[in-house]
Amino acid sequence: MDFTIQSALVPVEQGYETVDVQLIDGRIAAIAPSLEIVGAVVDGRNKLLLPGFVNAHTHSPELWQRGMIPPTPLELWIAELYEFEPLDPEQLYLSALATAVETLLSGGTSVVDHLVMIPGREVESIAAAVRAYREVGIRAFIAPLMQDEPLTASIPSGGVKREHIPYQRSTQESIELLHKAIQEFHRPDEGVVILPAPTGLQLGTDALFEGFVELSDRYTLPLHTHLLETKAQQMLAHEKYGCSAVKHLKELGFLSSRTSLAHCVWLDEADIAILAETQATVVHNPLSNLRLGSGIAPILKYLQAGINVAFGCDGCASSDSQDLLEAIKIGSILHNVTDFDYRHWMTPRKAIEIAAIGGATGLGMADEFGSLTVGKQADLVLYDLKNLSLLPRTDPIGLLVLGRPAQAVDSVWAKGNRLVANGSVTTINVDDLRQQLFDRSQWITNRQSTKIAQVEAHYRSVMNLPEQIKGYS
Ligand SMILES: [Zn+2]
Repeated sequence: MDFTIQSALVPVEQGYETVDVQLIDGRIAAIAPSLEIVGAVVDGRNKLLLPGFVNAHTHSPELWQRGMIPPTPLELWIAELYEFEPLDPEQLYLSALATAVETLLSGGTSVVDHLVMIPGREVESIAAAVRAYREVGIRAFIAPLMQDEPLTASIPSGGVKREHIPYQRSTQESIELLHKAIQEFHRPDEGVVILPAPTGLQLGTDALFEGFVELSDRYTLPLHTHLLETKAQQMLAHEKYGCSAVKHLKELGFLSSRTSLAHCVWLDEADIAILAETQATVVHNPLSNLRLGSGIAPILKYLQAGINVAFGCDGCASSDSQDLLEAIKIGSILHNVTDFDYRHWMTPRKAIEIAAIGGATGLGMADEFGSLTVGKQADLVLYDLKNLSLLPRTDPIGLLVLGRPAQAVDSVWAKGNRLVANGSVTTINVDDLRQQLFDRSQWITNRQSTKIAQVEAHYRSVMNLPEQIKGYS
């Protein structure tokens, strides 16, 4: 449907301007003051119009464990996560709905879901997420999370010989499963893209990465993976390859301008040069990096090296929300403590740019969305500047990034379709979603993981931590 947003505030080089925006056939047709009205009129007065952000890395099924897992590093946290993962595709459908809704209501119009699948019901798992994202109407980049090595292999050996039980699915079966997912669900024109996305070097063989690169080339698909999230992964890469993980990924042909890499906390100068050269994108997930004690990704160094950066919320079990504005706030001010030269610090405008065009670039979609540009698809968000959390009137983008906007999103469009109006999602019944999430869960305070106990002693020894006396909690 065509429409005209009237009298919205948009950022320009020097400050802000009040403009009308014509949207025709799902694309931005014109941006200028006092335009002729086409289609329906949307009142943009006292509202800020920005391009939609990209939630460039998350795992929607983790919603079922948000607020739950005790403070532990990734290698232990993940053992508990998988011990209690949801096993009903209907749960995956609901958590994808909730992920989409929370993303929309914090300024996002696209989501990259590194989707944890139910063992043995993988295709159903992908179908459930696809169904949810289509119903909400958000632009969905679904990256089925695949590994071909068992979880115990993700912890460095520390020189101790360890036997691992082979992973449940072979490399070839994983490649075939991805191929099937592409054929069944990949519909870029309808806003559903399937991404080849190995879990990470810590859980994947070279053959898995190479097979996924081949499918990415064959179907021109973006690639996605976790990269050097923890110190343990950095150690593991050196054990496994005798060189840095980044160098190895480059040799596997995995790095290019359509590759996005979640985390990138433990990279050195040589690694940074490789990312700059290959034009791969770093997805910054500040909340989970803090929650899991992984470290602070050197984002200012990446920006100075000309590396494209995007923001992600990461899954709800390690960030406990899908609030993009929260991730953007923490992900921009966090780095001020890493560099005394304040001229390197990230400004609110830079943070917005990273969240929008940075995300689109990492998916090879910068020509299609991510900025207020005539000809691009209408992935847009209007923020209500009369919302209490954005008052009194100062710098709208400063208020949005540095403040704590609460329910400030007034309207959202993705691919030209209006998904949020007057602060409410128009495409699904959110009250019904809330009720279902409530009914399918219970208050839990005494859950005990047995899996953590199986890996904790080895983890502590490899990481040079004193031998444990009590349990992890
Ligand atoms: Zn992740």
